[in-house]
Amino acid sequence: MDIPTPWPSLDPSAVGALSSSLRGQLFHPGEHGYDDVRKVFNAMIDRRPAVIVRPADAEDICRTVSFARTNHLPVSVKGGSHNVAGSAVIDRGLMLDCSGMKKIRVDAERRVAVAGAGALLADLDRATQTGGLATPLGVVSVTGIAGLTLGGGIGWLNGKHGLACDNVLAANIVTSDGGLLKVSADEHADLFWAIRGGGGNFGVVTSFTYRLHPVGPVLAGGFLFPAERTREVLRFYPEFAASCPDELSMSASLGRDDSGNPVLSVGVCWSGEHGGADSALRPLRDLGPAVDIVAPTDYCELQSAHDAGFPQGQNHYWKSSFFTEFTDDAIDILLHFAAELPSPASGIGMQQMHGAAARVDTAATAFPHRRSQIELLILCQWADPAETERNVGWARALFEALQPFAVRGVYVNDLGDEGEDRVKAAYGANYDSLSAAKAKYDPTNLFRSNQNIRPAP
Ligand SMILES: Cc1cc2nc3c(=O)[nH]c(=O)nc-3n(C[C@H](O)[C@H](O)[C@H](O)COP(=O)(O)OP(=O)(O)OC[C@H]3O[C@@H](n4cnc5c(N)ncnc54)[C@H](O)[C@@H]3O)c2cc1C
Repeated sequence: MDIPTPWPSLDPSAVGALSSSLRGQLFHPGEHGYDDVRKVFNAMIDRRPAVIVRPADAEDICRTVSFARTNHLPVSVKGGSHNVAGSAVIDRGLMLDCSGMKKIRVDAERRVAVAGAGALLADLDRATQTGGLATPLGVVSVTGIAGLTLGGGIGWLNGKHGLACDNVLAANIVTSDGGLLKVSADEHADLFWAIRGGGGNFGVVTSFTYRLHPVGPVLAGGFLFPAERTREVLRFYPEFAASCPDELSMSASLGRDDSGNPVLSVGVCWSGEHGGADSALRPLRDLGPAVDIVAPTDYCELQSAHDAGFPQGQNHYWKSSFFTEFTDDAIDILLHFAAELPSPASGIGMQQMHGAAARVDTAATAFPHRRSQIELLILCQWADPAETERNVGWARALFEALQPFAVRGVYVNDLGDEGEDRVKAAYGANYDSLSAAKAKYDPTNLFRSNQNIRPAP
């Protein structure tokens, strides 16, 4: 059973005692800094925690979790704050802002990196690339490694090296009893399994140990197709994405040109020997792109190439689903809605999942969506709150229209606040095992500000 939430009857002397026991900082409502720390990436989210703690180290986290448990305060955890549902911040609970814990150690010889849970993708990529190494992460460098990894982590290296969570070798995690556990294939293997796809349901990760791979300058860039080819390229894209070599990863985006016509661009990253790229990219070039820019690119440069498209302070509303093909009827819908895009920064993203990421057994980690497929993300982004209804309405209508063509499931990291059925669809066949792990490691659901897994009865 969930613990109840008693705020505002929090004992000030207990909060004071916690504050003086910490090496990090504690913020009360109304205090200088409180409003900055509670802000998350999605400007639609405006929540007020009873207390915010910014820990300096794992011991601070242990103390804070014990305090939260004793005082019946549900806990939210902030890594990079990018989650679209805004689950990093909680009303009337305790928010743990891990952004101060960014320490990274790279052992280039063993090809391993240990990263503090507050690191952003850019921090980890920069540290690993000094040795010509990298671990698979996402494609926008200011995203947090923690939320991304715990939910899966789809990016440019997923075809060759799997998801971010597939490359976690170990983690340190503070569970709901305030104890710090090291988890790996040999220690607390059920918890190690659960945090690779089960999100932040099981405790506060203080650090991750990642496997690294040699990743040199990649061949990266993209193709923009003329509007009259949009239908043809859409039909071709899922099939090609499922059959292309592991070294090729793609992410397409359907938008609208200045005349209002739907247009498709396909971003690519080739992470193999450069000589192999030409034949791999030939099928895309045969479709006659109007723009074809693919060039040797520094990996960190590629990782931050999309950052400018996602400025801070914007409102976001997203809907995610998976597709293995686009039928003519589905394409009709996509083209119709793309022509009516509600804001210039919005779009329909089509991130490919394939290769090594798709070959992992469904039950091997908690991330269940193991097949070659496209994650279709309806992504609305706008500045003016007066535009909210139009953007949300458009995204919902497109999502509903496409559902008959989608395969079951949703990517947990791109899920909004969408109800129990969608949460279950996100964890898929692994839900019951996750629920058993939740009952063992967080029986009172202290960590419930997430795509929440109910503890098994
Ligand atoms: C602009 C943008 C680009 C993105 N690109 C990609 C992409 O390329 N690939 C991809 O796979 N996803 C991508 N995402 C989605 C991203 O993976 C999720 O939003 C993810 O939750 C972000 O992690 P975070 O740490 O920044 O988020 P936060 O909002 O800080 O945290 C999200 C949740 O993660 C959990 N969490 C965070 N830190 C901890 C911790 N230390 N211990 C335990 N639980 C924790 C908590 O449950 C928290 O509520 C993108 C999102 C955005 C906004």
